[in-house]
Amino acid sequence: MRAPRILVTGGAGFIGSHTCVALIAAGYLPVVLDTLVNSDARSLQRVACITGVEPVLVCGDVRDAVALDRVFAAYDVAAVVHLAGLKAVGESMADPVSYYDVNLAGTLALVQAMDRTGVRTLVFSSSATVYGDSQPSPIVESAPYAAVNPYGRTKAMVESMLADLARADARWSIACLRYFNPIGAHESGLLGERPHGPPNNLMPYIAQVAAGQREWLVVHGADYDTVDGTGVRDYVHVMDVARRPGILMANLGTGRGASVLEVVSAFERASGRRIALRIGPRRPGDAPAYWADARGAWQAFGWRARRDLDQMCADSWRWQAANPHGFDDPAPAHASGLPRFQDNTSTSINSKPGHSHA
Ligand code: NAD
Ligand code: UDP
Repeated sequence: MRAPRILVTGGAGFIGSHTCVALIAAGYLPVVLDTLVNSDARSLQRVACITGVEPVLVCGDVRDAVALDRVFAAYDVAAVVHLAGLKAVGESMADPVSYYDVNLAGTLALVQAMDRTGVRTLVFSSSATVYGDSQPSPIVESAPYAAVNPYGRTKAMVESMLADLARADARWSIACLRYFNPIGAHESGLLGERPHGPPNNLMPYIAQVAAGQREWLVVHGADYDTVDGTGVRDYVHVMDVARRPGILMANLGTGRGASVLEVVSAFERASGRRIALRIGPRRPGDAPAYWADARGAWQAFGWRARRDLDQMCADSWRWQAANPHGFDDPAPAHASGLPRFQDNTSTSINSKPGHSHA
């Protein structure tokens, strides 16, 4: 019997490529829909190095109804994992309309296409930013929406739309997974985070400083009311969030917060390198501190984070050190030793020119 196909939007990206590894390990065949606006098709070749299976890549935009219809017509998709989107808080403050367009209108186009096709099982990549900073940590799933930036508001609006949809039509099964701060890399060192341009997020920036590619890290504010004045987040290993989940709304975090300086120290231990840093002003739209109450996901479907901050840093550093130029560095042809299976040839089925947010 053929493995069930799962459409992974944004599947060439950081979380998406690791999710493909986890889906293949769990017996599914991912089909990736991605514009590659913030990713590289070669991430899927690295997925093949690890798993022996190269997911099919469809180059297309999640806002493009015609492209979506063509994907659903071409592949017998059982469910959708929706990761395509824009995710930089600062960029969302400067260019909110692109965030509403890609994150909100993109999800709307996706669920309309799913409804037309009769595929009504969806896992949506939400974010801890939906909570904002008005809640005491650890934050439980029942906390009200209080996002403090457009990025978080797009995620909260999508969640509300999906909740309305699930209430209106019992045929839908929807999980909104509120990722806290996924970092780290696949333990093989073959797959990791490689954003286009200077990283917005903390971990890839630290990794590039450790590798000598950037001179210093700018710490965005050291005057918050936190353990050392720097922002506190709940960092969770990307291979933990990629594990196959159940169906509902859930926080995916470790339940522990770490400050920017604590992450820097952990990375210095893991890499044996000193991370130069300078204290800068606060980043607009940043919340001071939050971390997850992660008990809901454990009680509902037995999920909990397995890997700690030291392992996240060790895996990030292994990826960075082995691939200083990201996916431009050659991958071993058969790293896994598995026979290689390509689900299909990569294809582009855009009905209109792709958009770029850059
Ligand atoms: P990423 O940028 O690596 O991946 C997003 C992918 O979506 C990229 O491959 C990009 O090319 C693609 N994409 C962007 N716009 C698209 C469009 N219009 N159509 C099709 N593809 C498009 O980011 P990531 O860290 O892997 O995040 C994946 C998802 O998880 C995002 O929705 C993000 O908001 C969410 N999330 C991420 C974090 C985090 O810290 N990384 C935290 C919480 C939630
Ligand atoms: N941060 C920082 N310097 C950077 C990038 C991030 O000090 O170059 C801080 C940021 O202010 C926040 C934490 O690191 O306190 C995590 O930021 P990131 O962008 O990785 O995730 P987010 O907070 O947006 O979820």
